[in-house]
Amino acid sequence: MLDRPDVAAAPFRPAARIADIGVSEILQIGARAAAMRREGHDVIVLGAGEPDFDTPDTVKDAALRAMQRGETRYTALDGSPAMKEAVQEKFRRDNGLDFSAGEVSVASGAKQVIFNAFMATLDPGDEVIVPTPYWTSYADIIRIAGGVPVLVACDAANGFRLTAAQLERAITPATRWLMLNSPSNPTGAAYSEADYRPLLDVLVKHPHVWLLADDIYEHIVYDGFRFVTPVALEPALRERTLTVNGVSKAYAMTGWRIGYGAGPAALIRAMAVVQSQSTSNPSSISQAAAIEALTGPQDYLDERRDSFRVRRDLVVDGLNGIDGIDCPRPQGAFYTFASCAGMLGRATPRGRKIETDGDFCAYLLDAAKVAVVPGSAFGASPFFRISYATSQEELREALARIAVACAALAA
Ligand code: PMP
Repeated sequence: MLDRPDVAAAPFRPAARIADIGVSEILQIGARAAAMRREGHDVIVLGAGEPDFDTPDTVKDAALRAMQRGETRYTALDGSPAMKEAVQEKFRRDNGLDFSAGEVSVASGAKQVIFNAFMATLDPGDEVIVPTPYWTSYADIIRIAGGVPVLVACDAANGFRLTAAQLERAITPATRWLMLNSPSNPTGAAYSEADYRPLLDVLVKHPHVWLLADDIYEHIVYDGFRFVTPVALEPALRERTLTVNGVSKAYAMTGWRIGYGAGPAALIRAMAVVQSQSTSNPSSISQAAAIEALTGPQDYLDERRDSFRVRRDLVVDGLNGIDGIDCPRPQGAFYTFASCAGMLGRATPRGRKIETDGDFCAYLLDAAKVAVVPGSAFGASPFFRISYATSQEELREALARIAVACAALAA
């Protein structure tokens, strides 16, 4: 027997760079809802940010063929030549933008593209302007990369959009990036050409500020809204913009993990350095599938968009029929972001006072068995986000339950 010294193992100590970063509130709510389901409760989860459609068969077939051809090895680090060509074609067709292969980066999801960009560019103290409400990962990725997220609260009255005056005030000599996301997670708000113009004019005046445009919900827009991406509007920003997109949302491919970005070659090369020492190339099979998604038939996008629009209207109208809830009609994505200000101060049947949007969402989960995400998870209160990427039947049931639970609250 080896003589082991009788000393306790040192307690686990996380690195400072992640010590303050929690698991996302959205995932926590999902876990709580899953636990309730295991206990036998019939919980409706309107939390997840993914389409309920399946990946199109043409796309799955492309993946099968790739496997059969033996495309099962490492590919070029930040995207195979064929994948980069597909991305180039996508930008030409959808956005009127010409990028060279060296200006394109492909990664395991848009999230990794954003992660690579911030890891490749942020030094301690560097600031990134993030309009709120925002997809929480932006701020956490910025922090992990050593940067400082500068959160700028956007007004519901202005459609949750950043104004030029707000942007101007937020820019400092330490600003490296402005982060924009249109259509937005969590609000569904989108920037039209006219909405972007004043912001782009401010950026033109501040050449040290780069722009990261997260266009992942590009294809999910309603009522004739014309999607535009910032560099297509302002060529002067071409040398300092990273345009990010991916196949997760438009093509219902969240599990395949393919995202891409296009921007200046020097940035793309720096991002490849980060990727080369983390994941290497994105899955070869998934790249083959994504090529088919981006270059194959696009007609199902319209059908799916129409289906999402019907569900958006169902949810917006249903929520606005509830006293104390105010829900704007979003231009895109598959989320509603409603105010629950009218619920604050009310008391639950068990005598608990609703003081925050977190309390309201906890009450809905408990009383209505409906899981939604509080605005606090996106840096804006008192609101709650519903992801309506689920069946109309389930949405109707959820709305009915929410209405009953809200009616049971005492003023
Ligand atoms: N950006 C936004 C705004 C998102 O909502 C998401 C997914 N929730 C992503 C990026 C990341 O998508 P993926 O990594 O699946 O491409």
